[in-house]
Parts: sequence; structure tokens; C-alpha cells
Amino acid sequence: SPGLYIVATPIGNLGDLSPRAAQVLAQADVIAVEDSRVTAKLLRHAGIRRPMLPYHDHSAEGVRPGLVARMGSEAVALVSDAGTPLISDPGYKLVRDARAAGHAVVTIPGPCAAVAALTLAGLPTDRFLFAGFLPPKQGARAEAIAELAGIRATLVLYESGPRLAATLAALAHGLGDREAGVAREITKKFEECVTDTLSSLAARYADAPPKGEIVIVVAPPGEATPPSAEDADAALAEALTRLS
Ligand code: SAM
Repeated sequence: SPGLYIVATPIGNLGDLSPRAAQVLAQADVIAVEDSRVTAKLLRHAGIRRPMLPYHDHSAEGVRPGLVARMGSEAVALVSDAGTPLISDPGYKLVRDARAAGHAVVTIPGPCAAVAALTLAGLPTDRFLFAGFLPPKQGARAEAIAELAGIRATLVLYESGPRLAATLAALAHGLGDREAGVAREITKKFEECVTDTLSSLAARYADAPPKGEIVIVVAPPGEATPPSAEDADAALAEALTRLS
């Protein structure tokens, strides 16, 4: 039926395309894509042939209204190159405008590198903050890290191989030397997740910038140092005098 379908696709292993995702793509009137070459490969693998249309949130003016108008009578699917659309990928403005126009918006959830990395790293998962890619420029980056420092949650960041060591060092500097995990090539042949302190990880990858796609997971800030026995006794004595 007509509307917008947000379709998650594999992040490396084509076997992760869900049956429902394949069915929705096969029935779509048009598939809005980031890169038609990347999606063509996925569609070939799934034996699907549907028309594709390039889409970015910053696509030329006419593109988004045109797509939104089509949702009134057609099934428009949105995919990105890998994983869940809208997560460090295009789509948020398309969903916003589809909702504003009163069209049905349906999600077909599936792989997401951020969540997959969280399940690998062995760090707390009860509260996490997804910070996406840090800004590339040094000043803005340091500022972004300083903002993250006070957040009492596990942090999840996306990064590329060549910048990994510098980013880990900047995180160690700005957050303190917390425990962290570097998850690489998730769902692919050389999937790995290395856990250590941020500074040790920075040293490890400084000599050998790793290939492939990377998620950094950083432990929350440590518990506040408990008060010393003397401080606790003094606080207790002070509280007792108030009671009497
Ligand atoms: N929308 C995608 C998702 O749901 O994960 C993320 C798109 S973002 C442009 C690409 C980044 O995701 C990469 O630079 C990397 O940080 C991360 N990523 C994607 N696939 C990955 C994989 N197989 N292993 C590790 N990280 C991955």
C-alpha cells in the first residue's frame, strides 16, 4: 500500500537482509537510494528489480517534494548504503515531510552498526548515547568531546580507519582513560572487537591503521570516588547534631 517504507539493509553480510525487507523492496514502486551502484548489488543478490532514485537530505530542491507527492499513491522505499537509514545516513527530512503530508510511514528494522557494536563490547548497555561521527576539524572535535565527558552513559561513535588512532587519543585526553571497545568489520569475514583502555587502543592502532569500518564504544565515567572513612564519620556526626 502507498506510503514511505524505511528499510534496513545489511552492514556487510548479505544474509542479514530480512525476508520482510526483501518483500517490501520487491513490492516498492520506487526505491530511494544513497548510491545506486551499492543498492544495485544488494537487489541483484536478492533477485529484485525495481526502479531506483538517488536521494539525500540535501538533494536538489525538487527531489524531496516529488518523492513525498508520490507517497500518496505509491510505495516509496528508502534504503541507505548499509544498515538503518537515518542513522548517520540520509532520511530524516524525508520522514519529517512524509509525516507532515499525512502519509503512512512504516519501518522495517534490521542491522545497525551502533547497536551491533554495543552487543559486542561488553560495556554497560542500560544507557547509551549515540554520537555518530565526531566533527573532522580539531577545535570542533575537542569541543564535542568535552560535551560528551559529562554524560553518564556508554558512548557509541562511528569512525574510519585512518582517523581511528587520533580519535582514540583525543577521547582519552578529553574523557579520561576509560575502558573502550573498537568493533571492526561487523558481520564480515574479519569481524573483531578489541577491548582495552582508550590510551592502549590508541597506541595499538597508531602503528597499524586498521582497514574497514569501525565503531568505537566507550565506557561511562567511573563512579564518583566514595568519601573516605573520616569524611563519612564527620558527615554522620554533623547529621546527628542536627537531629538532636
Ligand atoms: N546507517 C548505518 C548504520 O545503521 O549503522 C551507518 C552509516 S554510516 C555512514 C557508516 C559508518 O557506520 C561507518 O563509518 C562505520 O563507523 C559504521 N559501520 C557500518 N558498517 C559497519 C561494519 N560492518 N562494522 C563496523 N562499523 C560499521
